[in-house]
Amino acid sequence: MALNNRRLGQSATVLISIGLFAASAYLAYGALTEAQNRRQLGELNMRILDRAERSVDFAFIALGELVEKGIVSCEAPALAELQRQVYQRGTLKDIRVINRDGSLACSAFVETLGFDARDMREAVKLPARNAAVSLFRIDQKEGVALGLAWQIDENTCLVAVVSTDALLFDMLPAELREGTQVTLRIGPDQTVASYAPETDAATAVSRPVGFSATSPRYPLASDLRVDLATLRHWNHDLGPAVLFLAGLLGLLFGVLSARLLTRPPDPVTLIDRALAARQFRPYLQPIFSLSTGAITGCEALARWVRPDGSVVPPAQFIPLAEASGRIAPLTWQIIVQTLAELRPLLRRDKSFRVGFNIVPEQFMTPGFAAALRSCVAEARVSPRQVLLELTERQAIRDLDAAAGVVATLREAGFKVAIDDAGTGHSGLSYLQKLGVNTIKIDKFFVDSVTKDAAARTVIEMLVRLAHELGMTTVAEGVETAQQIAALTVCGVDHGQGYVVAPPMPVTAFLTLMAERGAMHGLPEAKVA
Ligand code: C2E
Ligand code: CA
Ligand code: CA
Repeated sequence: MALNNRRLGQSATVLISIGLFAASAYLAYGALTEAQNRRQLGELNMRILDRAERSVDFAFIALGELVEKGIVSCEAPALAELQRQVYQRGTLKDIRVINRDGSLACSAFVETLGFDARDMREAVKLPARNAAVSLFRIDQKEGVALGLAWQIDENTCLVAVVSTDALLFDMLPAELREGTQVTLRIGPDQTVASYAPETDAATAVSRPVGFSATSPRYPLASDLRVDLATLRHWNHDLGPAVLFLAGLLGLLFGVLSARLLTRPPDPVTLIDRALAARQFRPYLQPIFSLSTGAITGCEALARWVRPDGSVVPPAQFIPLAEASGRIAPLTWQIIVQTLAELRPLLRRDKSFRVGFNIVPEQFMTPGFAAALRSCVAEARVSPRQVLLELTERQAIRDLDAAAGVVATLREAGFKVAIDDAGTGHSGLSYLQKLGVNTIKIDKFFVDSVTKDAAARTVIEMLVRLAHELGMTTVAEGVETAQQIAALTVCGVDHGQGYVVAPPMPVTAFLTLMAERGAMHGLPEAKVA
């Protein structure tokens, strides 16, 4: 289930990443090409307008010279001058003199396309250049051209006919020719020149993209309509390649993020979370009198109770908690919980003792004794009922200092035990020097007490030393009635082990105590 959810989460992360990368790349690439198109086609429009402007300029200059010289009549020398002007300027088709009513008075050439007064009605004036001049479209059966009219006086007007046929002819780059329409217009809608692909324009420019520009000098505008496919081809459309690359990057990023996001937290983080959620719970194991079987106390042993109810044994987290400096807060949680939950029993039976495991590092922390005193006082429990088990597995470096802490604790009323006795590297003098109340004999010796004379010898030695120094002894890990019998012969006072009960939750322990009555003996079979 959890694995499935993880897979689902990973796939979703990868897909979202690919989607986001592709979408961003698509948008960015779109914006870039759009900007590039606008720039390049804007320049093209400006080149078209520039050429149109120059044609108008020539017409302007030609008419200007005629007006300046006063050659505005249909007399033969005047006509010759009109013809000379037309010859001189390649884009000029004709120059004509027009009457007030729009009718033709005379013209440099007769065969050029004619126009009538209607054409001039929509003429656009050029007030910025010359109030007498205007531009208009000549639209006759024979074709379209651009007219520049110069009003000489009320009765006469000079008109230059500008050819627009060749204006757009070679303006388009080869790649655009097959899919682009160009129109040059005066004002908003009078087309004076246009270019369309030779193939059917409707299909050649089926999805047009429009680009327009207006001349800064004349009321001229140029419109480009480029087919989308042509445009993309022209720009060597990299869209699919960009999408593919972005998708690939997205995939890479997604896989990496999915790994990072769903990576299980490191074990120390898990311990920290468990501490914050108070998931470390005390389990209690009875300690009983070997001679009477009466339960005289218990040892608190930490368990990690996960939210799903699974119980993790200390071997799986105590070493890491020790190595990562989490053992002290963890043990404090065990102490506080145990005292709070066990208080009614502790107050009812003043001889009952509860033991806690303290590693030397925590034990030697300055202020440990004081902190313990206030913790116990806050729980309203007598320090005499609290036993601290100091393991012998880890060597205590400064024995004198440790003995000092033991003395301080004992002065405050606490009991101190040396745990796992017999397994450490320290000799018997060590036990003597520390000045503890109790020796807990390790399970290692208890396991072989019924089979091995050497184990019995060690136990007897520890018991003798303990009794000489006024200490009591507890045998750990007692599993059988035979072991109880052998340990009793050796003179051991108390036992702890599965023979009576394994460590159990506090409520179960209280139930057990209630059932047995704190002072009741063991069942016959187990004592025998
Ligand atoms: P320990 O202090 O030597 O605790 C005795 C261990 O022997 C416990 O293991 C207990 O469950 C186990 N045991 C008791 N009777 C029997 C038996 O008859 N047969 C067998 N096979 N085992 C028995 P547990 O609960 O797994 O604890 C392991 C160690 O974790 C403890 O060893 C102690 O050193 C440490 N520990 C547990 N709780 C704490 C804590 O709150 N603080 C610190 N610093 N250490 C803790
Ligand atoms: Ca212990
Ligand atoms: Ca032990």
